[in-house]
Amino acid sequence: MVCDLCNAQVTAAGGTPVPALVMRGAVLRGFNPFTTPGFDSNAAALRALGVSVEPAASEWRERALKDASDWLLCQNCHHAFTARFGSVPGSAL
Ligand SMILES: [Zn+2]
Repeated sequence: MVCDLCNAQVTAAGGTPVPALVMRGAVLRGFNPFTTPGFDSNAAALRALGVSVEPAASEWRERALKDASDWLLCQNCHHAFTARFGSVPGSAL
C-alpha cells in the first residue's frame, strides 16, 4: 500500500484511514498537498523540474472533491493533516 498523499510505502499497521467526507471538508477549507506546507514533496519535485505546481494542484483538488472512497495516509501526512484539519468527521463540514 502507499500513502494517498505522498505515495510513501505504508504498512497495514502504519497507515491511517481518513474518511472521504473529512478529506473533502479539508479540501474545501483549502487543503491541497501541492500547496499546503508539510505536504510539499510532490510540489518540490515539480519545482525542481521547473514545472508549475498550479495545474497539478487544481487537478488534484477536482479529483479529491469527487473522490468518494476513504484515503490512506502515512504517519507523516496524517500527523500534518490532523494538526491542521482535525480528524473528527463532524468537524469537516
Ligand atoms: Zn504520506
